Amino acid sequence: MKDVMNKALLFNGKAMVTVWSMAHAAQEGARLHGMADDAANVYGRVLAVTAYMAAGLKSESDKLTVILEGDGKLGRIVTCGEAGAKVRGYVSNPLTVLRPSEDPSALVGKEGVISVIKDMGMEQPYRGYGKVVKGDVTSDFAGYFLLSEQTPTALALDCKFKGGKCLMCGGAAAVPLPGCGEEYLVVLEDIMRNFTDIGSALEEGSPKELIERHFGHFDPVYLPEITPVYRCTCSRERTAGMIKAIGKKEAMSILAECGSIDVHCEFCGKNYSFNAQDIDKLFKED
Ligand SMILES: [Zn+2]
Repeated sequence: MKDVMNKALLFNGKAMVTVWSMAHAAQEGARLHGMADDAANVYGRVLAVTAYMAAGLKSESDKLTVILEGDGKLGRIVTCGEAGAKVRGYVSNPLTVLRPSEDPSALVGKEGVISVIKDMGMEQPYRGYGKVVKGDVTSDFAGYFLLSEQTPTALALDCKFKGGKCLMCGGAAAVPLPGCGEEYLVVLEDIMRNFTDIGSALEEGSPKELIERHFGHFDPVYLPEITPVYRCTCSRERTAGMIKAIGKKEAMSILAECGSIDVHCEFCGKNYSFNAQDIDKLFKED
């Protein structure tokens, strides 16, 4: 199935439902980091919720960062999203595997913090916080949406990797919009129960088919389709900019010590190496 995110307004614009599938994007991220299946199952869910949040960004230049730091085996999970559901991310311990006796929540842990930083071109970025309680990603992010963004969200996320291959990754989310009365909320919640096992649902139908099947009788009004993609934004030029930002003195001292300045991108694994000549040229440009 191709990676796609479908959004539809319901009840005359009083609620919005989003269903998305992004196995290829999750696969690409996990491949870049050589991730174990157990680690990738969690990583994919965080990428999925990041794609959902990123799709809600208004302007092309808006971006967000999600840091999920629990006391589990994976360590820190960092993802970034940009408008149009472009995502990237990494985990501290990508090779983590569960012992047969362990509960999947041992990966994230049952205590910790979710931090979301949204840079929307304002002087100060928006910062929101949530708690890691269940360690399942889904309910912890639903808690974040409710408490930090004041958006009650019926959320379902899932990701399944087997033998290094992503079988499915995606989610479903429904939110009330202004004017959504109690009577619609009840209907919404009721229908969203069909999405509890979003993994199996996405194996049976595309996001649009699922919306049509469960919400078709509420005259869904579809918004433009979005294609979630895994995309790193690093480049040699950007890395050069970072070196410039640390200043000539500091750059020279690293160069003297290491012979070159090597910058590793944690999001895609690329290495950028700058030798004495490169550095010299870099600071001469000004
Ligand atoms: Zn990169």
